Amino acid sequence: MKPHDFVLSATLLLGSVDYSQAADNTLPANASASDLALENARGLAGNDRYLKITEALQCHEIGPDGKPVDAGSEVVNVAVPPTQVFDNLYYIGGTRTGSWLLTTPEGYIMIDSMYGNSPETVTIPGMKALGLDPAKIKYIMITHAGPDHVGGAKYFQEKYGTRILMSQPDWDAILSPQVASWMLDTRPKSERPLQERDWAGSPVIDMVGKEGDTITLGGTTVRIFFTPRRADGGGLSYIAPVFDQGKPHVWATYGNTGVPTSVADRTIHRASIQRFQHEMKLAKVDAITSSHPFVDGSNLRISVLQKREPGMANPFLIGRDTAQNYLGILDECTAVVMGRNAAGLDDNGAPR
Ligand SMILES: [Zn+2]
Repeated sequence: MKPHDFVLSATLLLGSVDYSQAADNTLPANASASDLALENARGLAGNDRYLKITEALQCHEIGPDGKPVDAGSEVVNVAVPPTQVFDNLYYIGGTRTGSWLLTTPEGYIMIDSMYGNSPETVTIPGMKALGLDPAKIKYIMITHAGPDHVGGAKYFQEKYGTRILMSQPDWDAILSPQVASWMLDTRPKSERPLQERDWAGSPVIDMVGKEGDTITLGGTTVRIFFTPRRADGGGLSYIAPVFDQGKPHVWATYGNTGVPTSVADRTIHRASIQRFQHEMKLAKVDAITSSHPFVDGSNLRISVLQKREPGMANPFLIGRDTAQNYLGILDECTAVVMGRNAAGLDDNGAPR
């Protein structure tokens, strides 16, 4: 029986009982590790419409089209209207990848820079539409060295002298001969590997972000956490203060949402998630995003936020428990695919 089948029958058995109420003793004694992890992930999502998006995607639930919800690499990057999410935080980007811009009286800190062609096509037009000056971006802090996150950094470094920060393994990756070779690839775009399309080159090495470091600008301090998802990989996550209609809150952005492929790397990925969960708890984080708005529910949150009226809650303010549950889903869904693979199934739970 496939994990999805199992949970369907469990649902029938439990009737309308909330997953989060389903005690472990409702599962058969021989329930597999992936079944248990899937139940945990669904329980953490509960009836939260945003967390359900994350759970369906990360746990490869079966979508309405009968196929697993695994759209990560295929999500088309449709432009999203540049949006003020908090008093001092903006989203500028597309439905697939974007940047988070923290504003302070002394300039801006941007988390991630999208693709090589994004500064001129998305970031700068978006900022201008919001009345923000791109020359005021003092720092770009990179979550991880994917071309969809670090691609625009070179432009800002060269044009505005923006300081670029990422982890040492990520600097090593983007300054490697392999990445340099992307620039020399003269094949038509359609014939080039996905990761090197729209690559406009690497910034020159600048700031190395390490666990425990902070960047302070205009009275706002961003805390830096090393959250790799591979044995030799980099990755940083960030916690910063935000304000919603004048009230203080704590926002986090977790960098690496893509599940790596090997058991060793998945173990590291889970450890990073769990450790950051703990840091979030200590810091009282009550809002969390990633740089992929289709993963964390931000696409839907932004569309709700645009219709916000006085007195309506900000859909990005989810509370401390729900913020914990978001990362818990990333963790449990990694356990789901690990369990499926260990049982000889593919990531979707189908026989291989
Ligand atoms: Zn990415």
